[in-house]
Amino acid sequence: MSKFKAIRIVKEPAYAASYSEFDDSELMEGDVTVRVSHSTVNYKDGLALTGKSPVVRRFPMIPGVDFAGVVEASSNPDFKPGDAVVLNGWGLGETHLGAYAQKARVKAEWLVPLPKEFSPAQAMAIGTAGYTAQLAVLALEKHGLTPARGPVLVTGAAGGVGSVAVTLLARLGWHVIASTGRPEEADFLKNLGAAEVIDRAELSAPGRPLGKERWAAAVDSVGSHTLANVLAQTKYEGAVAACGLAQGMDLPTTVAPFILRGVALLGIDSVMKPKAARLEAWARLARDLDLEKLAALSTTIAFDQVIETAEKILAGKVRGRIVVEIP
Ligand code: NDP
Repeated sequence: MSKFKAIRIVKEPAYAASYSEFDDSELMEGDVTVRVSHSTVNYKDGLALTGKSPVVRRFPMIPGVDFAGVVEASSNPDFKPGDAVVLNGWGLGETHLGAYAQKARVKAEWLVPLPKEFSPAQAMAIGTAGYTAQLAVLALEKHGLTPARGPVLVTGAAGGVGSVAVTLLARLGWHVIASTGRPEEADFLKNLGAAEVIDRAELSAPGRPLGKERWAAAVDSVGSHTLANVLAQTKYEGAVAACGLAQGMDLPTTVAPFILRGVALLGIDSVMKPKAARLEAWARLARDLDLEKLAALSTTIAFDQVIETAEKILAGKVRGRIVVEIP
């Protein structure tokens, strides 16, 4: 039997994550085995590693919702040994053994071929956060919104979803307003393409049902009062793509933006997104994402730094995206 390095989460005697080893025989069902080379740390990975939210639903668990790697063995005709692949979500690190490991066994239908434009490390610099930002941009476009309609707001702008959203939207010609709680990151955000940087405190407290119309579109990774205020300040027939809950899961809003301004709230889920939509999102990332900006917004860490990074991302102290090198 062969062993491989992995992070192990156990629930007894207390919830804990540690660097450990797994045996091949512990791998779960799947028709493709992948030698993982890179992963990342998303907000959800922070929740799983610390146990601050019930993300993990099977124990022991290998956390990690995203990986890039090379197929080692496959009984599925769609994949053969040596193929470069990416996986985002599908319950990885939640119900199925995940990405913080040298090896993963998964269902072929969960895998996306690594786009030729990206290295495995770049695919993880994108990761679930970046692919979700792309899904949000696609949702706004499918709603018919274009830069001609007015500015776009990005909340949580210095975070993972936010920094990729700023980069993508600026490249597409939008006037991007970046909302952040980190004024020291204003230059970082302007370098990614933000035209204006605002203080997130403008949006985070309880506000009025309707406010001055400020943006035609928004990508929100914050939720709670922030999302309510974003909706209240969205222009007539604009739309807000809601993808996160960094401030909170609640949404203390009224129907006013919907029934008086025709504002639309577009829900974004990346985890169970059907494959066709994933392929579309990855193709658009390959077309639109500026690789120099991707490098500027990402930091690489070693495998043995993952657990300590969990607390940092939950504290809002991670800038942009993180790439994890799996030994
Ligand atoms: P990050 O931690 O990288 O980014 C979140 C950002 O939100 C922070 O950097 C910070 O930005 C801002 N923020 C943090 N705390 C608060 C607060 N209390 N009030 C207001 N703003 C706050 O996380 P990710 O980008 O990985 O994920 C962002 C959110 O999107 C998470 O809630 C995550 O769960 C969700 N998500 C959802 C997905 C889906 O499928 N729907 C997929 C991926 C992520 P700043 O410092 O600039 O203010």
